[in-house]
Amino acid sequence: MTQTPAPDGRAPGKPLVVLDKVNKHFGDLHVLQDIDLTVHEGEVVVVIGPSGSGKSTLCRTINRLEGFESGSITIDGQELPQEGKALATLRADVGMVFQSFNLFSHKTILENVTLGPVKVRGAKAPAARKRAMELLERVGVAHQAEKYPAQLSGGQQQRVAIARSLAMEPRVMLFDEPTSALDPEMINEVLDVMTQLAHSGMTMIVVTHEMGFARKAGDRVVFMADGAIVEENTPEEFFTHAQSARAKDFLGKIL
Ligand code: ADP
Ligand code: MG
Repeated sequence: MTQTPAPDGRAPGKPLVVLDKVNKHFGDLHVLQDIDLTVHEGEVVVVIGPSGSGKSTLCRTINRLEGFESGSITIDGQELPQEGKALATLRADVGMVFQSFNLFSHKTILENVTLGPVKVRGAKAPAARKRAMELLERVGVAHQAEKYPAQLSGGQQQRVAIARSLAMEPRVMLFDEPTSALDPEMINEVLDVMTQLAHSGMTMIVVTHEMGFARKAGDRVVFMADGAIVEENTPEEFFTHAQSARAKDFLGKIL
């Protein structure tokens, strides 16, 4: 797989997430087919493709929420552990933000963000609270720290979900259609936080159809269809000169 330099001329870092010929089935459905994907440190890879093409499964497989049958996935050269404490640590290294914000509804915003660091990373409560407040500040919801998720808008909840993932000090962040459940006026506030994060050097894999984000923050677009990576390119090239009939057809529907 060729290495695409970042648009701002930054040299791409070392390979951080490496998928090598990953195959997975759901019964008869070959949902991931020989997936080869290398994401370098500091790189932002945008994954797009039609519904049902395997994008969510790809994210869930990278994070080990799903198993796979053949091939390998490494994070910084380490194979993914199957279970136990090593798996919990790995999950903390790979942050994930879903379409549905998945906050703990009976915990305050602040508790949502401190829980993981205290339970999984062994952080002390005062340090975890201090760090959580910094992160809530960064995503613009520090003033809501004592509220419960249901008291926040969807856009605010999703920004809390991002802060909660960041609190675990992940090496890479996976986003699976983080704005597709939001009302239109809240999409940009979430994309702005993600763009800032991208520019801060976070390694990111982002499933989204938001072209503005892909252009502003993405180093590379990976187009999936029917469980396979069909083509990849810089965002500019992909959106203006898609090569495959599948990608052209898809872009014709979303643009
Ligand atoms: P995308 O995120 O690109 O829309 P998904 O990864 O969610 O695609 O799904 C890819 C395919 O796998 C779809 O056909 C979907 O119905 C199927 N699928 C997803 N999860 C499961 C599951 N747990 N069991 C069986 N089939 C599944
Ligand atoms: Mg999906």
